[in-house]
Amino acid sequence: MDQKKTEPDSYHRNGIAQVVLYGEFTATANRKVRYAVCLTEIDLTVQKITSTPAGRSKVVFNLRDCVGCRAFKGEDNTDVGAYFSAYFYPFKRRWMSSGVARQRVEQCFRVALAQDSHANLEEAQRWARAIDEGSVRQLPQRDGVLYSEVRRPCRVMLLLNPHSGKGQALSLFTGHVQRMLTEAGVPHTLVITERQNHARELVREADLSQWDAMVIISGDGLLFEVVNGLMEREDWEAAIQTPLGILPGGSGNALAASIHHYSGSQPVSSEELLVSCGFLLCKGLVSRMDLVSVHTASSQRLFSFLSLAWGFVADVDIESEKYRHVGAARFTVGTLVRLASLRVYQGRLAYLPAEETPSTTPVTPTTPPRGPPDSLLAPLEQPVPGDWTVVEEEDFVLMLAMYQSHLAEDLLAAPGATLEDGLIHLFYVKAGISRAALLRLFLAMEKGTHLASSCPYLVHVKVRALRLEPFSPKGVITVDGESVDYGPIQAQVHGGLARLISG
Ligand code: ADP
Ligand code: MG
Repeated sequence: MDQKKTEPDSYHRNGIAQVVLYGEFTATANRKVRYAVCLTEIDLTVQKITSTPAGRSKVVFNLRDCVGCRAFKGEDNTDVGAYFSAYFYPFKRRWMSSGVARQRVEQCFRVALAQDSHANLEEAQRWARAIDEGSVRQLPQRDGVLYSEVRRPCRVMLLLNPHSGKGQALSLFTGHVQRMLTEAGVPHTLVITERQNHARELVREADLSQWDAMVIISGDGLLFEVVNGLMEREDWEAAIQTPLGILPGGSGNALAASIHHYSGSQPVSSEELLVSCGFLLCKGLVSRMDLVSVHTASSQRLFSFLSLAWGFVADVDIESEKYRHVGAARFTVGTLVRLASLRVYQGRLAYLPAEETPSTTPVTPTTPPRGPPDSLLAPLEQPVPGDWTVVEEEDFVLMLAMYQSHLAEDLLAAPGATLEDGLIHLFYVKAGISRAALLRLFLAMEKGTHLASSCPYLVHVKVRALRLEPFSPKGVITVDGESVDYGPIQAQVHGGLARLISG
């Protein structure tokens, strides 16, 4: 092919991008329609060739939006042509609404340069390889964020909870994720969990040399199982390096919403969030993620990636389980119901402020069965270390410790949080707030503007460790949305302990 003659002139003029390949192919459905296809280092331009120059329509696909490309032979043996299909998920305006979401666009071309089917297939394969390589080169880069890539081809264990959310995780997988993984050439093994803690046990016993990533399709609860299963292993230090991934298939999809938010995209929900997270998974960029080590009154040690809650938020989380059939909206329903019976929760809250340099005299480390030592924590029976702050108030409406941005798909509770800032964003709401003011806070949280509202009852501090001692003998405390032993509880953050496939 003589590239000099056939190269679109715009590239000569602007000199912006190096042309990698140029070719003319026909459409798959109608072989009379011809396209000029130009691949540069940054995009794929497809231009319909018609007799009238004015009628030329040109579409440009950014390789950053491409998950993969594949070449194949025609289905019937008489067809000497070969084909290549490139799979893009660009942001497109939604039907009848403002805002954009990723939507699938397949570009398939028929290669029939020669009468030899083998030569045509080789040419199709050359295109597929070049597009694939180009889409990997176009991985996003952000200042200060260190990314690594999942090894390719990457063998993924995909754990699915069939009862999460509205009970549709399996149909969400077959309807939105399966095809995308195939397009991206990601080999995966689907494991459907049979009961609670099934995933936790599987991960605890798994031969991790067989897997390059562990991905869940469910709510946050199933990832909680995976994280704790990995941390319960003898080889926890190596095990927790396994890249983790999350695809929203539950009703509480806070981490998935956080990852989408960190990628800098406009808010989306439900299936659109799933497509966005599926896309990020296919791209396979891995970042570090903070984990928080949590100790309960019964000497249990847990690892948390999302939140620790007590009071209003914890009650809503557990009470709203019964509205699971409405999906992610269960938190909105639960919040309104709980507001009607708003109450005060009594207890003592203390924390180590983030700006405080931890005391040089090391605090007695707890002796955990597994995991890194919690050097900031004193045993629960002893008073908190001297450099901690003890909150004056003992009457609260809620206490919420967050380490990711989202508390639910539509609740941007900690707008400043990032995956690995090594911080716990501690919020508490003091008693005395009116129902209306509390509702306003939750409504503002949809856009993450609740902190700007300067509500005098809401306090936000960045901390590295905290302790909560509830006074009432009964109640609810949740870790990552899961109910844990009620009673005194303390926690400390471990910066970047886990690895997460994000964008
Ligand atoms: P949701 O966001 O809808 O609550 P989760 O992923 O958080 O979805 O799962 C809810 C709960 O179900 C978690 O406590 C999880 O451990 C548990 N679980 C996981 N697999 C199963 C299963 N096969 N059957 C019942 N419960 C399960
Ligand atoms: Mg964080």
